[in-house]
Amino acid sequence: MTIYRHLAEAASAKLQALHEAIEEQGSVACQNFPDEMYEEEDNADSRAMQHIIKKICGDCPLRFMCLDYAMTAREQYGIWGGLTTRERNDIHREKYNARRRVAYKRENPRPEA
Ligand code: SF4
Repeated sequence: MTIYRHLAEAASAKLQALHEAIEEQGSVACQNFPDEMYEEEDNADSRAMQHIIKKICGDCPLRFMCLDYAMTAREQYGIWGGLTTRERNDIHREKYNARRRVAYKRENPRPEA
């Protein structure tokens, strides 16, 4: 199994679990707003809208599940779990850089004093 297939299966399972949790919950706040509110444009209007959405997601009991799915699936569009695509990509980049630093240190141990 390739890593990409593994990730796709993990994302699919997490999305399924999120849908089931939403069904159990009855509804989540984002269902009461049009999809356009979750679109990301780089202008003042959409930044103001993102601020509102982030507050809505901040109170959502499924926030971490929602974000976990989006991070696993590497969703490239919209606000999930209260984070924009750019914020999620920043986290992915930081995790990647941290893994590289660990790998570098492992491959280049400091000489013992
Ligand atoms: S955290 Fe996810 S499920 Fe909850 S309101 Fe926000 S977008 Fe909807």
